[in-house]
Amino acid sequence: MSTSLLPPPQLSVVTDNRNESPHDDTDVIAEIKRLKKERGATILAHYYQEGEIQELADVTGDSLKLARAATQVDSPVIAFCGVHFMAETAKMLNPSKKVLLPDLQAGCSLSDSCPADKLWRYQEMLRENGRKFQTVTYINSSAAVKALSDWIVTSGNAEQIVRKVPEEYEILFVPDQHLGRYLSEVTGRKMILWPGSCMVHEIFSVQDLIAMKKKFPQGKAIAHPECPQNILEHSDFIGGTEAMIRYVGGYAEPTDFIVATEANMLWQLASKHPRHRYHPVPGITCACNKCPHMARNTLEKLRDCLRDLTPEITWQPEFDKAKEVLERSLLRD
Ligand code: SF4
Repeated sequence: MSTSLLPPPQLSVVTDNRNESPHDDTDVIAEIKRLKKERGATILAHYYQEGEIQELADVTGDSLKLARAATQVDSPVIAFCGVHFMAETAKMLNPSKKVLLPDLQAGCSLSDSCPADKLWRYQEMLRENGRKFQTVTYINSSAAVKALSDWIVTSGNAEQIVRKVPEEYEILFVPDQHLGRYLSEVTGRKMILWPGSCMVHEIFSVQDLIAMKKKFPQGKAIAHPECPQNILEHSDFIGGTEAMIRYVGGYAEPTDFIVATEANMLWQLASKHPRHRYHPVPGITCACNKCPHMARNTLEKLRDCLRDLTPEITWQPEFDKAKEVLERSLLRD
C-alpha cells in the first residue's frame, strides 16, 4: 500500500523524574484510600502506570476504555493516572467534573511530535493544492490537534473509523506513522502519514525479539501497532492493549507470550490471566521499556493531588471543537 511521509517535525521530550526519596508505600496507600473517599474521587489509571497505581484504581484501561469510563463517572472528582492528553480527554467528556492529573508535566512524545500550528499549516497547504482529505487523528494528541481533526481514533477503534471515511477523501493520518502504516495495510486505504512515533514503542530490538522467539518456540509474540513495521512483521498478534488482554485470554493452556509494548502492561496481563508467562521484548538501548512520561505519576503525587485538588485540567477554548470530534468518534457506533 502506498503511503507518503511528511518531513520530520522537532520532537520535544519531557525528561524522566523518578528520583523519589524512599517511602513507606503502606502509609501512602492508606492516605490515598482515605482522601479518595473524602473527596468523592474516582481514580482512572492507564495500563502503562505502575502496578501499585493500577491496583488503587476504580477503572484501569487503554485510552478508549478510560475515555468511555470517564463519561460514566458520577463522582465530582476524577484523578486521572495517565498522561496529559488523556486527562484532557477526560475533562472534555466531563466538563462539570474536576479532573486532576498527579503530574501536569506527564506528556507524550507522540503527542509532542505533532504541534497544532504545524498541522494547521500542512492542512492549509493540502487545501491550497486542491487535495480533498479528512484528518484522522490518533487519540495521543493535544486538544488543539483534535480540534483540527475530522476523526479521533484509538488503537481499539482505528480500523473501524478508517473504514468509515468515504473513499473520495484521502486520509491524513496523524501523529503515529507506524499505526498509520499498519492501518493502511489492513484497510487498503492510501494515507498521508505524519512522521510521529512513540519513544517507547519505537525502540524495541528486532534482534532480541527474534532471539526470544527462538528461546520460546511454542510462544506467541504480541505487539502494539505503535511498534515499527520490523517488529510487527515478526509478531503473531498485533493489537492495542485491550485486544492483547482478549487475545491471551483465548489461550486456555499456560503459554509463553513475548510482549512488545510498555512494560507495565505485563502487570495487567498477569493480573487478568495469571496462568501464562509473559516476557517483555527489551529495547535497543535499555531493557525496561517503561514510558518516562507515565512514570512521572507516583503514589506520592497521587496522594498530593487528592489532598490539594491540584494540578487540575481546566477548560481551554479549543476543547469545545475537540469535544465535538471526540464524541462523534468515540461515543457513537
Ligand atoms: S508510551 Fe508512548 S504513546 Fe504512550 S504516553 Fe508514553 S510516549 Fe506517549
